[in-house]
Amino acid sequence: LPTEFEAAAPILERINAAGYEAYFVGGSVRDTILGLPIHDVDIATSAYPAEIKAIFKKTVDTGIEHGTVMVIEHGEGYEITTFRTESTYQDFRRPDHVEFVRSLKEDLKRRDLTINALAMDTSGQIVDLFDGLADLEQQIIRAVGDPNERYYEDALRMMRTVRFASQLDFEIEEKTQQAIQENAYLLEKISVERIHVEWIKLLLGKAVKKGLASFLATDLANYCPGFQDQQTKLQQLLAVEDLHLSNEVAAWSVLVYLFELDQTQTRKFLKSWKVSNEIINQTLQVQKALQALLAGTLDAKICYQTGENLLVIANEIANLWQQGQAETEIKAQYQALPIKNMKELQINGGLLMKELNVKPSAKMGEVLHRLEEEVIYGQIANEQALLLQKAAEYYMN
Ligand code: ATP
Ligand code: MG
Repeated sequence: LPTEFEAAAPILERINAAGYEAYFVGGSVRDTILGLPIHDVDIATSAYPAEIKAIFKKTVDTGIEHGTVMVIEHGEGYEITTFRTESTYQDFRRPDHVEFVRSLKEDLKRRDLTINALAMDTSGQIVDLFDGLADLEQQIIRAVGDPNERYYEDALRMMRTVRFASQLDFEIEEKTQQAIQENAYLLEKISVERIHVEWIKLLLGKAVKKGLASFLATDLANYCPGFQDQQTKLQQLLAVEDLHLSNEVAAWSVLVYLFELDQTQTRKFLKSWKVSNEIINQTLQVQKALQALLAGTLDAKICYQTGENLLVIANEIANLWQQGQAETEIKAQYQALPIKNMKELQINGGLLMKELNVKPSAKMGEVLHRLEEEVIYGQIANEQALLLQKAAEYYMN
């Protein structure tokens, strides 16, 4: 057992000792079998939430209405969820109500994919009711049960399916992929926030082209914000030799570059995906640096404004089409800047007030920015005496 499971095993054993079943389930079992690191240990049990709370001293009701109780042991929190079925989906996204059950089989049946429907007990024994192990072995992504029904019940599963194809580099089984194509329109019922999470995981996956190819082939793209008329451009990504994106900013930056959006359009597009303001601003900055890089006008000021990390991302994107520079070269260009931020400038408002006897004002901001720019461009050395002298001149004009 991986160390995360070893650490949680005593919890499962206490549930067993109280007369209930308990298993590791979901992504952590899948990733353990694949030899991948696991992020969250999910535990499923036949005990009802009230029964779990009676067994453990410290618990938190993190999702009690879904049957999830968090048990705190040695300062570590473990989410324990009662076996459940999800009956009658009316709105294609959420079960009308959750029904607790005592049967592991019922619980595994409502899971999305066979590779996600495995359970493991504390001895490492695996419960595999839907041939998930064979699919893991053969690297196949297959819906549990009738794929049409499963996607009709919950349309988000379609996005999860293509994102796992990208993350794991697995093939989507034919009937599963067909069912996605037939139900793709139901994606409109799912909130943008939830689609966003899966979409970014898809773009950051190691087999992004595989996930993207299915995303396009099944027509899921047609039901995502801002993609209705961009399928041809998204298709172009499949022709990129070595497509790897390092983070969310890189992912959005590639798209707005491909779609040839201007700043206003970029903002609008990212807003429609409910992207955070921080990521929007970073994407806009990468867009600016990328344009300069491609036009051969990447100068000290843009490097300074962009910062090293975003500069590297812009360069990575240019390099997808062999239009960038070596990463060492771009980093060297950044490192060669006389200052990296305003704090490194050998002059500031306080000094101006003291030495020139001036008060904070718009003029002061202007003077400081002018000096900052001159230092960045190497037009003046970053030395206090020089800068003060220049500042005094600027104040007089
Ligand atoms: P990740 O590594 O991204 O966490 P995961 O498979 O653990 O992948 P979670 O969203 O953490 O994904 O969900 C945990 C488990 O719950 C899944 O493995 C799956 O069994 C089940 N599950 C999650 N979302 C759905 C869904 N929409 N429909 C059916 N089962 C789901
Ligand atoms: Mg998980």
